[in-house]
Amino acid sequence: MSSYPPSSPAQPTTLRQRLAGLRGPAVPPRPLDARALAALAANPGCGRRALLDGAGVDKNALATALGSPAAFGQSQFAIVRGNSFEAKVKGDGGAELLRLVHAHLDPAAEPPGAGAHVPDLTAAGPEGRSARTALALREATAAKAWTLLDHPMLALEVAGSPAYLEPDAVVVHPDGRWTVVEIKSFPMIDGAADAAKVGAAARQAAVYVLALEKTTGKLAGAEVGHTVLLVCPKDFSNLPTASPVDIRRERSVTRRQLDRLTRVEELAATLPEGLSFDPATRTTEELVEAVSAVDAAYAPECLAACELAFHCRDRARTAGAVTALGRSVRGELGALTTVEEALAAASGAGCAEDPTAAALHRAARLRAEALESSAAEVGA
Ligand code: SF4
Repeated sequence: MSSYPPSSPAQPTTLRQRLAGLRGPAVPPRPLDARALAALAANPGCGRRALLDGAGVDKNALATALGSPAAFGQSQFAIVRGNSFEAKVKGDGGAELLRLVHAHLDPAAEPPGAGAHVPDLTAAGPEGRSARTALALREATAAKAWTLLDHPMLALEVAGSPAYLEPDAVVVHPDGRWTVVEIKSFPMIDGAADAAKVGAAARQAAVYVLALEKTTGKLAGAEVGHTVLLVCPKDFSNLPTASPVDIRRERSVTRRQLDRLTRVEELAATLPEGLSFDPATRTTEELVEAVSAVDAAYAPECLAACELAFHCRDRARTAGAVTALGRSVRGELGALTTVEEALAAASGAGCAEDPTAAALHRAARLRAEALESSAAEVGA
């Protein structure tokens, strides 16, 4: 039952007004960046995140108002280290970066010469920069020459509004192919980097690829590569090394998620009138109730990707939800969705027809027998 004040915003008539009501009419929508869009793809089952992002809610402020502020993000040291590594990779007119792209993704092409083209992408505001980037991409494709676009600005329409995205680099090959390059400061040891970090980089790159595809759609001879280049420090040095990453799967998941964002209307339609996530006009209790009104799909991975993770984890733990134990445990337990149900099944009180409950009961019996026999051995 809703307990929202009667002075709530007047009945919205359009999706834009409805979303503004959820965010707080005086609160500007928070623009989505590639990291946020990529995080959506990391947890495609979460309606809560899809709705909050679609409405442009400031999840950081919301998490703080809920009493569970987010605690992730890069340290200042990591940011400085990352910036200095990126500058090194792009130094000397991008010669090393282009050499890596040529060696890993296009060895049959003519090698990039010493004076590869690096167009100036300066313009006023994100709209101006994205228009300048689109022009540079067109010119580079027509020139059929290696070109490095350093921090281009790409536009992608998300839930009816443009999101402006800034990849580390896009390289245009002589054959008209465009490659997204992600430069990260985590190390690649013996040619392999941390799988979770590579996965996050791949999801982020997939967002850039989707944005680039919007531009290529109108341009003859251009094609966006579905293999991106990940550049990292080699082993424990500061020397760059690279690895191609196939992002086809991440691209399709992200695309589905973005389509889903454009249907936030359906999610919003299930919520009571007057509900709002605005910390400035709602009490903590009202915000807790508002957040609980939208289904979530908490998993421990949320801790590295979503501002609401601590709040959702507390809720999942309070409800005894097995999702708090990880997706693999959740998958193994099938129809048993709470710790209470799993413990009941282990004790033999679960549904006899359920194979998961039967397996749990059998495992608990075997464990008890093993403990008994080892205790008897110790006592003998
Ligand atoms: S932390 Fe909560 S809102 Fe964010 S993705 Fe996870 S379940 Fe969804």
